[in-house]
Amino acid sequence: MRHQGLERISSPRRLNGEECLDETLRPRFLDEFIGQTKIKDNLRVFIEAAKMRSEPLEHVLLSGPPGLGKTTLAHILANEMGGQIRCSAGPILERPADLAGILTCLNRGDVFFIDEIHRTNKAVEEFLYPALEEFAIDVLLDKGPGARSERIDLSPFTLVGATTRTGLLTAPLRSRFGIILRLDYYPPEELYQIIRRSARILKIEIDEDGAWEIANRARGTPRIANRLLRRVRDFAQVKGKELIDREIARYALEQLDVDHRGLDEMDKRLLLTIIEKFDGGPVGIGSLAVAVSEDPGTIEEVYEPYLVQQGFIQRTPRGRIATKLAYQHLNRTPPKPEQPHLL
Ligand code: ADP
Repeated sequence: MRHQGLERISSPRRLNGEECLDETLRPRFLDEFIGQTKIKDNLRVFIEAAKMRSEPLEHVLLSGPPGLGKTTLAHILANEMGGQIRCSAGPILERPADLAGILTCLNRGDVFFIDEIHRTNKAVEEFLYPALEEFAIDVLLDKGPGARSERIDLSPFTLVGATTRTGLLTAPLRSRFGIILRLDYYPPEELYQIIRRSARILKIEIDEDGAWEIANRARGTPRIANRLLRRVRDFAQVKGKELIDREIARYALEQLDVDHRGLDEMDKRLLLTIIEKFDGGPVGIGSLAVAVSEDPGTIEEVYEPYLVQQGFIQRTPRGRIATKLAYQHLNRTPPKPEQPHLL
């Protein structure tokens, strides 16, 4: 059986049908965006400076795991700069012509958002360079030896690129971003605030303890916090409870197989596989992926970052190692350090 990250309750990626939820809950201005204080402070300065110069904001690259607010920030930047946003994604932009169509429609100060920008193909990427640097594109007229190209000027715009894998971005593309920001997992206190805000918007009654219970299990990720809030509400409703308190939150999260550290079945399978099949590691990502029947890219992008950040897995040049914390969490006894041979 192949485990699809997309179907997990704790997947940081957007699940089918969640677009609407994301939209409803999306903060529209920097002041409503909770946490990531340093990033917000920096952006406020860049926005103000650009406005003072009457220029569009420099191109912005946002990196970090899924569900942390990259798309939201792109929308916020457009709103703060008073422009419109056009959204696309690396895998959708197949030919330079796709890009030309969008770029020529942009107005001064608009934001062009490319999600998963690391997956943009080479032809599209190269076509983008003059657009980013000189706000112009070279469009090829005709084909074959007699082909001519014509330069078309664009309105100055801001590209906001989002990526979960900065390492996969080419150096020339990366160098064209004036502002590079990395989003990190949110601490429970900020997730708590996000949950309270979302509950207000969705008219869900939740008390402080209930919100903390969800915040602690949301894997540092606003998208997961919002999803858990809604699923917990379902359990409360069926049980005839008007208010989400600690008791119902705990009950619901247990039913959903999300443990007190936010780990779900797949996380545990990964840790147990390292511990039991590979003697705690080190194990390469390829072997691990085969052992749990999952795609290596999904493991690297979706499951592993949180497990590493929380200290359950250590990444070493020789592969992944299960830490002492992982053994403790799964009630396994860590192997004793090898004794030097005494002669
Ligand atoms: P990404 O693009 O990084 O995958 P999104 O921007 O789509 O993530 O955010 C996922 C959801 O989480 C959205 O519904 C958004 O409203 C919510 N969200 C993300 N960051 C914040 C934040 N800092 N404050 C409040 N809500 C947030």
